[in-house]
Amino acid sequence: MANGRVLVIHTGGTIGMKPGPDGYEPVDGWLPERAAKIRALHDPDQPLLTTPPSRFGRRVSWEIQELRPLLDSAEVGREHWVRMAEAIAARYDEFDGFVVVHGTDTMAYTAAALSFMLEGLGKSVLLTGSQLPLANTRNDAVENLQGAIMLAGLYEIPEVGIFFADKLMRGNRTSKVDASGLDAFRSGSFPLLVRVGTDVDVRWDLVQKPSGDPLNIVPITSERVAALRLFPSISWETLERFLEPPLQGLVLETYGAGNAPSSRDRFLDVLGAASARGVVVVSVSQCQTGHVTAEYAAGRALLGAGVVPGADMTPEAALTKLQWLLSQDLEPDEVRARMQVSLRGELTIPATTPRFTWRD
Ligand code: ASP
Repeated sequence: MANGRVLVIHTGGTIGMKPGPDGYEPVDGWLPERAAKIRALHDPDQPLLTTPPSRFGRRVSWEIQELRPLLDSAEVGREHWVRMAEAIAARYDEFDGFVVVHGTDTMAYTAAALSFMLEGLGKSVLLTGSQLPLANTRNDAVENLQGAIMLAGLYEIPEVGIFFADKLMRGNRTSKVDASGLDAFRSGSFPLLVRVGTDVDVRWDLVQKPSGDPLNIVPITSERVAALRLFPSISWETLERFLEPPLQGLVLETYGAGNAPSSRDRFLDVLGAASARGVVVVSVSQCQTGHVTAEYAAGRALLGAGVVPGADMTPEAALTKLQWLLSQDLEPDEVRARMQVSLRGELTIPATTPRFTWRD
């Protein structure tokens, strides 16, 4: 049986860092050189780089392409997202799947951004990295990288995902939740796509089916977005400043099920005025699980001021989706409409009719 083929696009992050005079820094060329010496990633009896066989006897042939300069992911911005998408598109036909090696800090933003930009995706694009560098004797780098390569090369899961700590999560459903633990990511409002244990347990019922259209990059070009987390003494003046031109989109991180201080002086007026002049304001919850709904008066009033409910989108998904939609030539109302529907599996609309039996 032919080997699976995977392109690993290395963008930086802890996984390929070494200690330097100012702390951990990414080092050019080090990850490929080191990976070639690790048996779990390369079988020395095979051509460079080839994994040992899987339990089912298949190997993955893989190569690493570094996107230099390698970055701490705190430095990653929309222009890097576009470079990553272009690197995938440039070699799309040569490989069965793609792994993007990335720092963990902004991995969830990049995963969500790629999920929107890569229209017509029919192959896996799996982001991974590690909390401890591959240079450390004790690390999570080998397992994460090996797992991502095997899944991308041997399984057909046409999703942009994050593979970390034995779990594959849909990228636009994921947030980084732990700065030091090895189980650093969580998909709070959507089940795991794959759990790797003694078996590889794929939730095929959840995996998105490809449209069959060719891959097409719809890039993110806009930077006129912001995110604002509500806090109990926030003033309307702060909000007004935030919403000033040239801002075109705001993700408002609201309390619980989408609540905000609706009775406070001018708060709603400021939001209403911004919405009326075309700023798209989207409400997502500060909670990691659950929906923005119109169940409370405090939340309903926000919607009355033109704020769009972001359902169960993560703040990362809402921000990158808004940025992506605002990069296209769309009227604000069209952007508002698309923010409320699932384009890449990033949100779930709760059922409106209650169900009480398996028979329905
Ligand atoms: N600061 C690093 C980064 O995001 C952290 C990591 O990779 O885990 O690039």
